[in-house]
Amino acid sequence: MTDNKITTVAVLGTGVLGAQIAFQTAYRGFPVTAYDISDEALEGARERFIRLGHTYAAEVEGATPDTIEAAQARLHLTTDLAVAAQADLVIEAVPEVLDLKRSTFEKLGALAPASTIFATNSSTLLPSQISDASGRPGRFLALHFANRVWQFNTAEVMGTPETDPAVFDEVVRFATDIGMVPIELHKEKAGYVLNSLLVPLLNSAIALAAGGYAEVDDIDRTWRIATGAPLGPLQILDIIGLTTPYNILTHGSGADAELALWLKENYIDKGQLGVATGQGFYSYA
Ligand code: NAD
Repeated sequence: MTDNKITTVAVLGTGVLGAQIAFQTAYRGFPVTAYDISDEALEGARERFIRLGHTYAAEVEGATPDTIEAAQARLHLTTDLAVAAQADLVIEAVPEVLDLKRSTFEKLGALAPASTIFATNSSTLLPSQISDASGRPGRFLALHFANRVWQFNTAEVMGTPETDPAVFDEVVRFATDIGMVPIELHKEKAGYVLNSLLVPLLNSAIALAAGGYAEVDDIDRTWRIATGAPLGPLQILDIIGLTTPYNILTHGSGADAELALWLKENYIDKGQLGVATGQGFYSYA
């Protein structure tokens, strides 16, 4: 670990991403408080941590029963926000609802020491939509992970005009310490770097397939062969799950809404949601 001030971490929300962030942080040696709203949710978190342990054993180079057990031992679960608030860095991964995020940071701001840094993992909201609710805009920023953090290990760091540059730098160092590749954004951008690149590509691929311009496999092959990318956009969509692009397109303009309807009628209504259901644009054994 490099010499910085973040030594304890809390993660709010132990769903898909929150559990991964908490586990990865603990795996890299930090004590982590994982907070969720109910005992039932924490039971789900326990199961997620066990599954993540199996995944790390199978997929992370150098992972052993000992390193995984040590990570599990560094994870502390709580339904008490006041306990989570005592960490040097609190990373929020609660559902993507603006009012929920704002009220969470409002409560947290009243409980945490003035020195605590707050980060949101929001994918679609800008940190400036939330930071004032925290009562400490200078110590507030976005730290955005990608699903499967141990494998797709970018951590996009994005402040607001009010974020203290020293806090930004500290969070960049922390991201490195937990095995992420920090991607620094110089200003706020909806979609950060990754989704600013990826979403237009994925939507264009859906439009090509929906319009009947080319076969699914040819759309993907074109991208793979011509750019050297390992996966085509429709393969990526199957991994993400088709509900996510459906939800995004539903909120878009007329052409996007038509693509959403096409996805719904041809895939979602048939339960073909991608890799997770065994069938999406492709079939999976
Ligand atoms: P999720 O629905 O899997 O998990 C949300 C968790 O938050 C649940 O455990 C829920 O019990 C808990 N929760 C609900 N209300 C809460 C509250 N008031 N306080 C604390 N916890 C509460 O959601 P997710 O997919 O993990 O997404 C969480 C955040 O991460 C979102 O902002 C999302 O944009 C972002 N994100 C998700 C992905 C992804 O691929 N899923 C990728 C990057 C970023």
